Formats: sequence, C-alpha cells, structure tokens
Amino acid sequence: MSGNTVRLQAIKGVEAYVPPAVSFTDTEAPGEIFGENVFSKVVMQKRLPKSVYKSVIATIERGAPLDPLVADAVAAAMKDWALEKGATHYAHVFYPLTGLTAEKHDSFLEPVSDGSALAEFAGKTLIQGEPDASSFPNGGLRNTFEARGYTGWDVTSPAYVLENPNGNTLCIPTVFVSMTGEALDHKTPLLRSQQAMGIQAQRILTLFGHDDAGHIVSFCGPEQEYFLVDRHFFLARPDLLNSGRTLFGAKPPKGQEFDDHYFGAIPERVLGFMMDTERELFKLGIPAKTRHNEVAPGQFEVAPMFERGNVAADHQQLLMTTFKTIAKKHGMECLFHEKPFDGVNGSGKHVNFSLGNADLGSLLVPGDTPHDNAQFLVFCAAVIRAVHKYSGLLRASVASATNDHRLGANEAPPAIISIFLGDQLADVFEQIAKGAATSSKGKGVMHIGVDTLPVLPTDPGDRNRTSPFAFTGNRFEFRAPGSMQTVAGPMVMINTIMAEALDYCATELETAVAAGTEFDSAVQNLLTEIITTHGAVVFNGDGYSEKWQLEAAERGLPNLRTTLDALPELITESAMELFEKYKVFNHREMHSRYEIGVEQYALTVGVEARLTLEIGSTLILPAAVRYQTEVAGNVGALKAAGVEADTSTLAEVTAPLTDLRAALADLKAALAADAGETALAEAEHAREALLPAMAAVRSAADLLEGIVADDLWPLPTYQEMLFIL
Ligand code: ADP
Ligand code: MG
Repeated sequence: MSGNTVRLQAIKGVEAYVPPAVSFTDTEAPGEIFGENVFSKVVMQKRLPKSVYKSVIATIERGAPLDPLVADAVAAAMKDWALEKGATHYAHVFYPLTGLTAEKHDSFLEPVSDGSALAEFAGKTLIQGEPDASSFPNGGLRNTFEARGYTGWDVTSPAYVLENPNGNTLCIPTVFVSMTGEALDHKTPLLRSQQAMGIQAQRILTLFGHDDAGHIVSFCGPEQEYFLVDRHFFLARPDLLNSGRTLFGAKPPKGQEFDDHYFGAIPERVLGFMMDTERELFKLGIPAKTRHNEVAPGQFEVAPMFERGNVAADHQQLLMTTFKTIAKKHGMECLFHEKPFDGVNGSGKHVNFSLGNADLGSLLVPGDTPHDNAQFLVFCAAVIRAVHKYSGLLRASVASATNDHRLGANEAPPAIISIFLGDQLADVFEQIAKGAATSSKGKGVMHIGVDTLPVLPTDPGDRNRTSPFAFTGNRFEFRAPGSMQTVAGPMVMINTIMAEALDYCATELETAVAAGTEFDSAVQNLLTEIITTHGAVVFNGDGYSEKWQLEAAERGLPNLRTTLDALPELITESAMELFEKYKVFNHREMHSRYEIGVEQYALTVGVEARLTLEIGSTLILPAAVRYQTEVAGNVGALKAAGVEADTSTLAEVTAPLTDLRAALADLKAALAADAGETALAEAEHAREALLPAMAAVRSAADLLEGIVADDLWPLPTYQEMLFIL
C-alpha cells in the first residue's frame, strides 16, 4: 500500500506487532492461586484473635454493627499480611458518581522523630479516610468551600492487594460520603438498599416458618460484554480514544451476518489475553471463568459467578480495570462502550439478580413441596409487582447517553420494561389469576397449599433474549444495563423496589392472618391480587417487534426512549417517597443523582460533538478535498490532452463533499448556539440539536469513505478494526 496516512501506519504497526508470549500449558492450578491476594475469611481466621474474628464475621454474615474496638486488631493483621505481600501503600477504593473507580493512596510508612520511618496502619485509618473530594461530581450536595468527603470501610467486601510493577497496594473497598453523611457514591445506597430488602424478605420467610433464616442479601451475577481492538487502530482513531466509540465509519461489507463468529474459535491472541485476565482475577478472588465470542466480530463476554450484590459490584469494577490494563499488555484496547461501532451489536452488562443466603440459596428457585412453592411464588409475585410499579426507575437506572445507542436498537431490549416468565411460570400465574374468577374454563385453577408447581426447568431452553427482565430458572436477568455501567445502580433499584413489594406482601399476609384468614388462602388471595393488578408487565413475546410497542402502549407500560425521558423518573413524588421510606436516598441525594445524570448526558454528547467537528474538519474533509483535487487534475489533464474526460467520479466525490461542508458548518453553529443556563437546557440542546447535526456529518463522511481513494483515507475502517486481531 502506498500513502502514509496515520491509518496506513497503523496497519503496518499491526502487521509488525508480536504479542507477548503466554504459556498455554499453565501449571498453576486455579485452586492454588484463587484468592491469593485477598484478605479473606480464611486469612482472617488464621491471623485474627478468635474474638475479633468472630466479631468481624458477625458483621459480614449477619449484618451485625461493626464493633469499633476490633478495628485496631484487624488493621494490624491486615497491615502485616499486606507487607508480606509486598505492599508499600494502602488505598481506600471508592466509587464516585462518575461511574469510575477512585483511589486515595497513602504510604504505610510514617516518618518518626529520629528521621526513620515506621510502618503505621491503625484502626482509624482502616475505618475512615478523607480524600480530597472536590473533583468528584456531587450534584449540589457539597459546596466547594466544604469540599470534604469521607471514605468508610465496607467490612463486607474483602480487602485485597493489587500488584503493580512499582509496588503493591493494599486496597480497601469503602463508601464515600459527604461531611453530613450524604452518599456521594454508588456503594452507600447499594448497602442501604440491600439491608432494606433483607429486612422485608425476612418478614416473608418468618411467615413461612423460617424464623432463623439468617441474614438475607441480594445476589448479583453480572455478564460483561466487551470489544477488543488492536491498539494501533485505537490510537489512530481520535473518536475511540476520546469518546470510546467510533463517530465515523461505514458498515463493513463483511458484517455480523457471518454467524461463524458466535461461539466460534477465539483468536490465539485473545486467548492469551483471557488466560492472563483469568489468572489476575483469580488472584483477586474474582470467580470469572466463562469465555466465548459474542454476536459481533471482535466482541467477547466474561461472566463471573454470582456473589453478594455489593461484593459483585466491587469485583465488577475491578474486573473492568484489570481488563483494560491487561489488554494494553497484549497490544489491544478493551472497549466497554455500549455501542462502539454503529450498525454492529453493542455491549450490555446483564445483571442476574436473586436474593437469599448461603443456607437457603436463591429464594427464586421453585421448590419440591407445595409449601416451598407457595413461598417461591410470593417472591416471584413481589418481582412482578416491583417491576410493574417501578419500571420507570429500572429504566432510569440504565439511562446514559451511551446506552441510548443500544437500547431498542434490535440487539438489546427495548426501553419498555416488561417481564418474561417463561411458558410454564406464566401458565402458573395465569391459573392463579383465574382463581379469582369462577368461570375459568379450559385451564385449571391452582390451589396454593395443595398443588405442586409443574417441574420448572432451572435452565429454560426458551430463553427470550428480547426481554429486559427475564426469569431464568433461579434468578431474574435484567438485560438493559449498559456494558460501561457499574452494576450498583441497577442493583440499588432492584433491591429498593423489591423491599417495597416484599413489605407490601408481608403486610397483606400478616393482616389477613391476624384477621383469621387461613395462611394458604391468604397467600392465594395475595398472588391473585398481584397478578391481576400487575400482570400487564408480563410479556413472553418478541420484544423487538413493532407490534410490541403498540401493545405495550395499550397496556399502559411506559416507553422512555432516551435518557432525558427516563431521568425524571428519579425525582417523581412516588420515587422520592419510596427511597425515603426505605432510607436508601433522601430528597437531596435523589436530586443530586438526577442532576448528575443530566450533566453527564450533556457532557458526553458535547464531547462527541466537538470530536465530530474536529475529525470531520481536520481528517475527513482534507482527505476528500485531496481526492477531489486529484480527480479534477486528472479530468483537466485529459481535457488538455484532447481526450474526452469522464467527469462522473468528480461528481461522485463532489456531492458528499459539499454535504460534508454544509453539515460541518451546521454542527459548528449548533455547538456555538446558546444552549441555555441550566444543565437540563444544555442536555436538551445536546439531544435536539447536537445529535442530529453529528448524524448529518457522519452520513456525508461515511459516504465519502466508499469513494475516496484508499491510500488517502485517514481513519482505520470498521473492517480493519473488527476483523484484525
Ligand atoms: P447466559 O449467557 O445463558 O445468560 P451465563 O452463564 O453467561 O448465562 O451467565 C449467567 C450469570 O448468571 C452468571 O454471572 C452467574 O453467576 C449468574 N447467576 C447464576 N445463578 C444466579 C443466582 N441465583 N443469582 C444471581 N446470579 C446468578
Ligand atoms: Mg445472560
């Protein structure tokens, strides 16, 4: 290839690149390295005095308040352990509302008066930290003059040592709150919501005779989709580099209609990356093993085993950082953007949800006896009520400028939130619904306390991939979350709306029983009432079809298409009431989240718009002009030589070039326009003016990609980025 564009240099770079050697005959048994760098229960049991160990375990497993007296002993043991692991620093790790992970690093060594240094790490340092919080979004919760924020140890999420060539770090998962105790992060509400849900679940279990069920928590198993691209290409694409997605690029002639990718062979280089990531994740105690190709070329998935919600959320964040770091080591970039390539399937992060504990397992598993099944059905009914009543909140929890490109784009569930129960469970609820009506014909009526459920497969074959919220045998799978998001947001919503629904169920049952109703009948009545009132949210059909959009509207299910339609759900009166009642967010916290959501939307689209203008003006326009000049020169030369010149190529390049110029001018004007004072006005301007202007630029540019001479085209193409690994 002649020419010397950045793109052509990138291709040469890819050709010359030799990936690092990975030993495929790895002798390390996963069991040996698993949790090697984790301050786990086993480590604690070995290193802590018995009484201290018992106290910490009581907090972790039974939710008992943390005894401050044990902190010094834990800190001392943690420090010794970390120093043995080569740690020189410790860090409070927290999860600010940017969605990223933040760390405040400190040295273990503290100078003492004789000029030497001592390794210090006291209980108070373990329990609380004070990072400079002024640079994190707070949505008005903190005035800059009181920019202090505090981190506080989450005892229930294990500390770990993160290896780094420049010295290892002891990492302590923490919450991040303002001076007044208001949440500035994703972990605080997650812990609060988990507790609220646990308390209500316990009431249901008590009604079913499990007085000593033990602390109930939510479980979360996230499935993470991601793309890998060669770093040479990544660095040659200012759009990928700065916004995480391609703002230009014609669809590849070889697209994903080539089914051979899905579950196909994994390229050797990717396999090397996966082995490396697995080893690192195992050391950190993150149980991630699954690996297969996703639908799109260059796309893959990792699904860790489910864990307690807050631990899963921390692990998920750690997983993303680890993937990014290790991909670079293998000369690749790991993309977590929801839609890095237009017209190619995007990436989601399915949040598998259940609730339970170690003894009982998942409470969303059908049982063997009628009694167990009645309990299972109450928990399922609670999910149905929760999702129907608060579908707007679930939608809002996955709202972002980046996920807007994916939801409803025929690859991910639509923005309409519905529940898939599977044929059998749906049938069970249909029968229950008929329990109320005497005129049921055809199908039977289920009698709670008598009938056993038909055997429900724990792994239903008929997975409905188009449903945003699907029952999959022992859990519900929320499929709308975006790949970049922390799972904490969706988990907070699910926990909180489940707390409300379980509270409702428990109160109904308790009241009925107190009034003398027989327990089984009370359950029967409750289930019938819930499925009658909230059954509209159950949908087993094709969520991608246009018919569903119409039907959903008839059923009264909201269709909140974009982020700006969804975010106001956070601050409706009923949402505020819900979050206050279960002490997950107060009014101010809720408003701050709404504000931040709106700000982030405007920010994201704004950055993309400026990038589109820059790339369009400085890379694409010049390439097209050069090509136009070359063709015009050719036409001129032919004419001068008296040869009849074909001007069709000149016309072909000139038309989209003219469009591109006009579109760039429009985009520039839209960027310069006064968008208004408030964040909301700015966000609306982004949606109404910037996005369409960007689309117009892209459409002209993508046309030119198919016209301009290959050796002049400046950006690596979809074909190159997606198929060369
Ligand atoms: P699929 O792609 O078929 O949906 P995967 O095996 O890729 O399934 O992922 C299943 C995910 O569900 C895993 O993360 C797993 O840990 C999680 N999971 C399984 N059982 C539960 C449960 N009871 N609660 C929460 N998550 C679960
Ligand atoms: Mg899945």
